Amino acid sequence: MSNRDYYKILGVKKDAKPSEIKKNYRERAKVFHPDANKGSKKSENQFKVLSEAYTILSDVSKRKEYDRNRSHKRSSRSGASKDWGSPSGAKQWGYGFGDQESQGRSNQESSFRQTAAEDSQPHDPNAPTRGFDLQFMVNVDFVTVALGGTIPYSYEKYVRCENCDSTGESEEKTCTDCEGKRQVVREVNLKVKIPPGVADQYVIRLQHEGGEGINNGPPGDLFLKVCTKPHPIFKRKKSDVYVEIPISSELAEKGGPLNVGTLDSVKTIEVEECTLTGEELRIPGQGAAILWGKKRGDLIIKFAILDSQNS
Ligand SMILES: [Zn+2]
Repeated sequence: MSNRDYYKILGVKKDAKPSEIKKNYRERAKVFHPDANKGSKKSENQFKVLSEAYTILSDVSKRKEYDRNRSHKRSSRSGASKDWGSPSGAKQWGYGFGDQESQGRSNQESSFRQTAAEDSQPHDPNAPTRGFDLQFMVNVDFVTVALGGTIPYSYEKYVRCENCDSTGESEEKTCTDCEGKRQVVREVNLKVKIPPGVADQYVIRLQHEGGEGINNGPPGDLFLKVCTKPHPIFKRKKSDVYVEIPISSELAEKGGPLNVGTLDSVKTIEVEECTLTGEELRIPGQGAAILWGKKRGDLIIKFAILDSQNS
């Protein structure tokens, strides 16, 4: 996947300024964002590839390395480059951005083939190599993002092949489990902690949960981007949460107690006499978490008064 042309994907020239890269990324991200495409798998993948391109090109050192690897690939393949064994080679970023189903699988396979081709260069196949970094988006429900919590998360990553003890050979033959690649793909199930009150699109970094390293190289990291699922009644603005509550015209006129569901409980509020449609009531401390859970924002109730016929 490092064969991808990130400049083309972002629609910029090779000498593009960081501001151009950022601008083009934002424009394209809007089009392919899963929220704008009703969860279409195709646009989700396009979004992932786009994020991948942006991750590399927006980082000065990653971009340099990517450029270096590309020019190396285009030039003659004679002579080894010291970069091949580099622990943060661009190729490692490719894997994991693909979707987790069949297509992602074939991307992983091509990743492997590529590694094998590189290994035929005068590069030391026993050099320690850092594992792949993985980057995925994860849909998290509204309340868990607002208040924090733990979610189960499953994904696939490369791990050492136990059958051949990660040598690629078993009984003097190519290992059948990993086909000589020393690693196999395994599903991993994690419990991921969502910090309380993070913003939508917040990226959680799970150190060492990426692909395992080769030849005792360190593992890569796992990056999860939190995509908040919309809630049927609650809306969030920073740490405040908004909800529209319908009340009968009788209650609006005379006032009285009313039970209202908050994010995590039920509160009894007092509706004032002569309440009008659109009037608001603020309940302090019933919004989303702030300061990593030490405090909470407010819940703002907006009243909608029903016609007397309907109530
Ligand atoms: Zn094996």
